[in-house]
This record gives sequence, structure tokens and C-alpha cells, in this order.
Amino acid sequence: MKKLIIIKYGEMTTKKDNIGLFLKALKDNVSHALKDHNVTIKQDSGRMFIFCESNDFENVLEKLKKVFGIHEMTIGYELENNDLEYIKSSLTELIGQKEFTTFKIETKRSNKKYPLESPEISKILGGIVLKNKPNVTVDVHNPQVIIHVEIRIEKAYIYFETIKGIGGYPVGTLGKGLLMLSGGIDSPVAGYLAMKRGVKIEAIYFESPPHTSLEAKNKVKNLATILEQYNHEIKLHIIKFTDIQEAIYKQIPHEYLITIMRRMMYRISAIIASQNSCKIIVNGESIGQVASQTLTSMNAINRVVNLPVIRPLACFDKLEIIELAKKIGTFETSILPYEDCCTIFVPDHPVINPEIAKCEEYETLIPYEQLIHEAIKNHEVIRIGKDNQAMYQDYL
Ligand code: ATP
Ligand code: MG
Repeated sequence: MKKLIIIKYGEMTTKKDNIGLFLKALKDNVSHALKDHNVTIKQDSGRMFIFCESNDFENVLEKLKKVFGIHEMTIGYELENNDLEYIKSSLTELIGQKEFTTFKIETKRSNKKYPLESPEISKILGGIVLKNKPNVTVDVHNPQVIIHVEIRIEKAYIYFETIKGIGGYPVGTLGKGLLMLSGGIDSPVAGYLAMKRGVKIEAIYFESPPHTSLEAKNKVKNLATILEQYNHEIKLHIIKFTDIQEAIYKQIPHEYLITIMRRMMYRISAIIASQNSCKIIVNGESIGQVASQTLTSMNAINRVVNLPVIRPLACFDKLEIIELAKKIGTFETSILPYEDCCTIFVPDHPVINPEIAKCEEYETLIPYEQLIHEAIKNHEVIRIGKDNQAMYQDYL
């Protein structure tokens, strides 16, 4: 018998046509997450098996809890063959170390040529447990312990408790998206949710030095580093937005400052997205949260780009967002008090129902195409966690 971690895939097993792609991506992502551990990874169409040569099962499980595409996992035992007598003796050995009073056996038989069917196997193995532990009883409805037995082609597996994984699709299987990453609470959570659906993230951050500080930029880098644990290498594009923001501030009626500023951010994001093969823009907007996130505002802002803008938090309450931010570990960094370029030029009364015609008219007052061109030409790129650049090329 060999102790190992067994991973169940979950939702992606419904993607029959491109299952191979999903499985390869998951294996790559697991290998990357476990790069500091001495493990051997094997895989078949229903399960992944991880052998921890240095016995650090708990640490490995912690890393696996951050890999999207894992539905469930468990520490179990691999039996070299699936001979029933061998399963019986292995089970006897394993339950010897376990304390419980009620149990049930759940048998899965992916080897359909096996001479016995699952209910028969469960019955026989249940008998073995009862014989070896005189004080235990079977409880099929609410057992203290479920003993899982899986009969696969050549081998069999026995395991007990299972642990929930974070689910979703393996990052990278759905292509790439560009996350508008500010230092706030919302956008890192939006990025996390997009990654959960298999989207690999690049990020874009707009800074306005000297109005915004180096600390504000470092905060964004730190947020990207936290997200990188799920994504494995984040290319962070940093755009100097100062000239554009100052031009807007000087030339445009102040109630339209935010609307026009966000239209500029969207325009730049769309160009960076297409230059980097990102198929969507992702951001942390939430309906009604601020003046620029009314439906009319979203419409006026969204108009300047053609590619889809995905807003995973569109229908979340702030408290729900905060809860998720705490869960994924970005909250404490997000609430550090550094100014953002959106907050420094905030007018007293931003328009909540901007008119598109007015946006277009005001934008003629600044040479924005030239300014955008300059900002993109001079933008800085930081690769967060850059040791793994080649991994996703297959999927994009
Ligand atoms: P908060 O959590 O305070 O709401 P926020 O980052 O969500 O922070 P908003 O003004 O609500 O701030 O901005 C809406 C969205 O626009 C953000 O979630 C983010 O995706 C994007 N955004 C705002 N400012 C920037 C910026 N400086 N760089 C990149 N994206 C930004
Ligand atoms: Mg917000």
C-alpha cells in the first residue's frame, strides 16, 4: 500500500471535447503549485494521483487548495492490485488505526470488467469491517466515517475523509483576460473570480505620479503577487496616466472628469489587451457602487471599446466582496491607505447620468489619441512570479 493524495476534477469533466486540454492544464498547474515539493504526479481521465516522496502531505494539500479545477481531494492509499483478498487485508490494516462507531462503504468501480459489482463489493467489505471492529455498526444515512473504495483498471484505492477543493476551471484553459487592477478591495476579487473560470490574467494599473505615490504602486504589486498564487506569473502593465489626467482636469467640466477618465482607461486597456492576446477586459465595477457605476455611466464608459468587459462583481454587495477579499487574502493589503489616481481628482458632484454626446464633445478638447499613444509606448511591464513564462502557451 502506498499513501498518496487523490484529486477529483469536478466540473471540467463535463467538457467532453476538450477534456485533454483541461487535464493537461490542470497537471501543469498542479506541478507548478508543487514545484517546491518532491512529488510524482500521475493522471487518468477521472483522477490525479500525487505521491509525496518527502511525506509532507499537509503542506502539499495547502498548496492544492489554491489550484482551480480541483473539486475534491483526499489523502488515501493505493493498492498495487485490485484483487479482492488484497483489498480485504488492506482495509483491515487501515481501519485498525481508526476510531469510529458507525460507517458505510461506498464502492466505485471504474473497471467495468471487474467480476463483482459495486454493491456486492461494499457488502463484502462491510462484513470485514464488522468482523474486525465488534463495536461498530453500519449507518447508511449518517455514518461517522465513509470508507471509499475505488476499483480502477489495475489498482484499487481506499480513502476516508475528503476535502473540498476551490473548484472552477484550470487557469489558462479559457484564454487570457486583462484585469484592471487598482489598489482597492474590488478589483483583486474580480480577478480571482475570472481566474476561477479558467481565465489567465494579465493586469493593468494606472498611476499618476507625483499625485500617486510609490507606496500605492507597491500595494498593487503586492496584490498582484497574492493573485499570482492562483495564476502563476502575472504580467503587470503599469501606465503613467499623469499627462492624460492633468489634461482632463484642465480642459473638461469637472462633473465629467471621472466619466472621461474612465473612458481613457478603457481605451488604453483595450489596446493593451489586444497587444497581449487578451480576449476580455475584467474589472471590479459593481452596479450602483459609485457615480461611474450607474447603468447610464457604465453605458457611456463601455462604449469606447469593442471587446467584452466582464464584471464579475456587477451584482455583488460590498459586504459580500469584502468577505471574499478576506477569504482570498487580499483584504488586508487593499485597505492600506494609499491614494489611487481615481481618488485624487474626484469632483464634488460627478455626473451620474452622463450623456454620450457630451463625452464626445468634451474629448475633442484634449489631444487624447496622442496622449494615449505616448502612455502606451512608455509603459512599464513587471512580471510577477516570472519563473514560469512558457507554461500556458499551449492554451492561448
Ligand atoms: P474600491 O474597492 O475602493 O471600490 P476600486 O478599485 O473598485 O476600489 P472603483 O473606483 O470602484 O475602485 O473602480 C472601479 C474599477 O475600475 C476597479 O475595480 C478597477 O477594476 C478599475 N480601476 C479603478 N482605478 C484603477 C487604476 N488606477 N488602475 C487600474 N484599474 C483601475
Ligand atoms: Mg469599486
